[in-house]
Amino acid sequence: MIILIINCGSSSLKYDLINVQEGEKLAGGLVENIGQKDSAHTFMKDVQTVKEVKEVKDHLAAVRLALNNLVAKDNPVLSNLEEIQAVGHRVVHGGEKMTSSRVITPEVKEQIKKCIDLAPLHNPINLAGIDACQELMPNIPHVAVFDTAFHSSMPARAYVYGIPYNLYRDHGFRRYGFHGTSHAYVANKAAEYLGKEMNELNIISCHLGNGASICAIEKGRSIDTSMGLTPLEGLIMGTRCGDIDPALVLVLQKQLGLSIDETDKLLNKQSGLTGISGLSNDIRQVMEEANNGNYQALLAIQIFCYRLKKYIGAYAAVLGHLDILIFTGGIGENSKGIRARTCQGLDLMGVALDEMKNIFRNPNNSGIFEIHSDSSKTKVLVVKTREDLMIARETATRVGYQQASEDRVQEEFKVPIITADQHIHLCQEDLEKLFGQGYTLTKTRDISQPGQFVAEETLTLIGPRDMIPHVRIIGPVREKTQVEITRTEECRLGIDAPLRLSGELDNTPGIVLEGNEDRIKMEKGVICPLRHIHMTSEDAKKYSLCNQDVVRIKIPGEREVIFGGVHVRVSDKAKLAMHLDTDEANAAELDTNAFGLLDGVQERK
Ligand code: ADP
Repeated sequence: MIILIINCGSSSLKYDLINVQEGEKLAGGLVENIGQKDSAHTFMKDVQTVKEVKEVKDHLAAVRLALNNLVAKDNPVLSNLEEIQAVGHRVVHGGEKMTSSRVITPEVKEQIKKCIDLAPLHNPINLAGIDACQELMPNIPHVAVFDTAFHSSMPARAYVYGIPYNLYRDHGFRRYGFHGTSHAYVANKAAEYLGKEMNELNIISCHLGNGASICAIEKGRSIDTSMGLTPLEGLIMGTRCGDIDPALVLVLQKQLGLSIDETDKLLNKQSGLTGISGLSNDIRQVMEEANNGNYQALLAIQIFCYRLKKYIGAYAAVLGHLDILIFTGGIGENSKGIRARTCQGLDLMGVALDEMKNIFRNPNNSGIFEIHSDSSKTKVLVVKTREDLMIARETATRVGYQQASEDRVQEEFKVPIITADQHIHLCQEDLEKLFGQGYTLTKTRDISQPGQFVAEETLTLIGPRDMIPHVRIIGPVREKTQVEITRTEECRLGIDAPLRLSGELDNTPGIVLEGNEDRIKMEKGVICPLRHIHMTSEDAKKYSLCNQDVVRIKIPGEREVIFGGVHVRVSDKAKLAMHLDTDEANAAELDTNAFGLLDGVQERK
């Protein structure tokens, strides 16, 4: 499948033509200074690069120029434009509703428009690129791949700012995160390299390019990232300041009389490596001057690595334990000095660098190499990012899903919503410890999931802050003891439970359970369940869904809500139902008869 990737900047258009199956870039180019007399077009095919300077009026003209080059008579990449089967557009901001890439429909464009306030510099230009391409290639699917989508799995505690909550609820002012396509790509690549599944791994990925961000990835899901409402937050970057005291913005304006635009320029364009070193945003130049003893250059390098190290430490604490640390982006892939300085002193997190590997290894054909020592508990990998390939793959996948969901629309998918509050699943061993040898649970009533029942016996949950008596036990016994609580109970008990699927119990907190006979201390097993839908394989077939799919569910009504990140769990002992945390259901103001409709597939394994 041949896919054209379009990435529009305010006065530029970058394009790549990708053969998805081969992962091969067939050609690519960059049109710069669009709208000015001295627009320049650089076209790359094989190892050849051709540059011409001529006026390019707007983004439509730039797309036309790109397409003409792909079928140019003297050196064509394609025999005709019909060979392009889909276009993938990089879109910076997808807001809360775009939790995955989407085939572009008028509704999707509307959503991109709605996010203009959140990304005023990027989204209008991304829309201009989409319009231009749709005009010139009207008969093929266009897909929007959002920089923010991968981070839609972040929990509220990671994305809500410490400002009045109504600013989030009414205006969407929260942390969104960016570089999602790159973080997702390198994390998958690292897991593949180590022969592991994503759901077995805790990963920290450092994307260090001109823009830089770091991401904590638990079992394949982004749970925190350093960029925020805009890409300005977080790490020190080429020209961006990253984290600062927000009051500095007020001080700059009050004391120095800077206007809003001047402040914006100062923090986005004149800060970071450029601002501190007074030299350049290019780490190579800053490093060279630092080697010559230039104080400001040295300081810029120190601050860059120190900030990064602080974030790695913070994310390691959030993840509980770390399997892989990834470096990517122009700096991450190439700067041995930055990697070495950042990893120094991270031994307490199991990171041990092999200096020789760090100095001498280079990305080979696979685009990945390791730089940890044999004794290092954490693997440290350098992975070449391929956002172009990831966007192409996403585009191909979405086009495939669209086909499937078109088939599915004929079937009425209506899933009842069940709100679940606290309950306990016990293993036989713990049941006997709590109630006596050979004990079996007494059934009081069946619950909606076939074969499962509420037991007569209850337990007291004893947390570090408080206890909750009479908590239901759901039978029959399971392989492992697991306690599922909601955010409210979490607070009452004084426990910070991660969002997990049932059975994913590694690195989860423990709790004390008290029964009639005894009390036991569980070392781990307290979770806050991720949104999920139970269904039989027959249902799954009927709705073209698979076990482990992640879907979006729309709750119709006056205040339409879309829940992304809903995990499909197929079992023949199941009954079709979506399980939602009571707190989430309350926040969305759902009533007891609420039902959901399938809004689309978000991820398929
Ligand atoms: P972008 O965020 O624009 O995609 P890149 O990921 O290409 O940026 O990273 C660009 C940065 O990478 C440059 O500013 C430079 O600091 C750094 N860089 C590129 N090549 C090298 C190299 N060979 N050695 C060290 N740093 C490099």
